[in-house]
Amino acid sequence: MLNVYLTVDTELWPYSEGWPVRALSPDKKTFDEEIAACFYGRTAEGDFGLPYQIEQLNRYGLKATYFLEPLFADRAGGHHLADVVDLIQRNGQEVQLHLHTEWLSEIHDPTVPPCFRQYIHQFTLDEQAALIAKGVRSLQAAGVKKLHAFRAGSYGANRDTLRAVAQNGLSFDSSYNFCYLGEDCKIDVDKPLLQPHKFEEVWEFPISFFQDYPGHQRHAQLAACSAEEMKTALLDAWRQGWFSFVIVLHSFELVKGRSAGKLSLPDKLNISRFNHLCKFLSDHAGKFRTALFSELDPGVIPEINSPGVLRSRPHHTIRRYTEQVYSRFF
Ligand SMILES: [Zn+2]
Repeated sequence: MLNVYLTVDTELWPYSEGWPVRALSPDKKTFDEEIAACFYGRTAEGDFGLPYQIEQLNRYGLKATYFLEPLFADRAGGHHLADVVDLIQRNGQEVQLHLHTEWLSEIHDPTVPPCFRQYIHQFTLDEQAALIAKGVRSLQAAGVKKLHAFRAGSYGANRDTLRAVAQNGLSFDSSYNFCYLGEDCKIDVDKPLLQPHKFEEVWEFPISFFQDYPGHQRHAQLAACSAEEMKTALLDAWRQGWFSFVIVLHSFELVKGRSAGKLSLPDKLNISRFNHLCKFLSDHAGKFRTALFSELDPGVIPEINSPGVLRSRPHHTIRRYTEQVYSRFF
């Protein structure tokens, strides 16, 4: 049985040109438009954000991890965070911690650095530990009982991040993204990480990826892969006896055209990919189990050495290019 982690990065991006380099105007009081778009995926044809995702997940009997970014709440209002936590938990899905340090220049909390930097790895170990502690406190105040896992915004973690995660009593991290190694992700390992591995007292769950053409890899993000590429990667991982396969998407991944003064549009291609994925996982419940970090006993995670890199089939990748071009116009 392959454990599939459907992970949804759930975060708010303000409509403000030049942000975060240019701070928000003190006159900006409401974030209603951004909240409607980023969390609820509001469109003229209905909501395609969390309410839609969660309804589909529950319809198919699936579980997802919502990596929820709480720093925004210090500026936009704690009740928005509590609403999102409630929506997720009330429907049997889990909340884990995500942090975008872009918010630091907007919030006033003496326990964390006062200036924004794009990546958490740009802070010292002590600062990172304080940031994660603040995130845990915020989510707990919003109704999450216990946190188990962390993902850095933009995958921007380093080894100190993992130490800071451990210091805060969390057992899992899922910031390693092979396709973003370098400027964004700085978790250095000698060879590509394909399966969970224990570093710095934390189990790192790498975001899965596959080779889509020679010398090029693609991470398992809903919007980045065709439905066929995702299915093939999942089946190949299952055949190879992998322990886990981590898929990433965003709270707003099923809508497009988010901007001030107008409603977003449904992203029909990504909605169809999401629905296909849910149906596929449900139809193959004998091979795949959608798993939650809160239900995982670290003691049962095997160290799988040297599994093979997954590869897409050329005709599936070509089809993705066609879909993507078509989606730009319709
Ligand atoms: Zn994020």
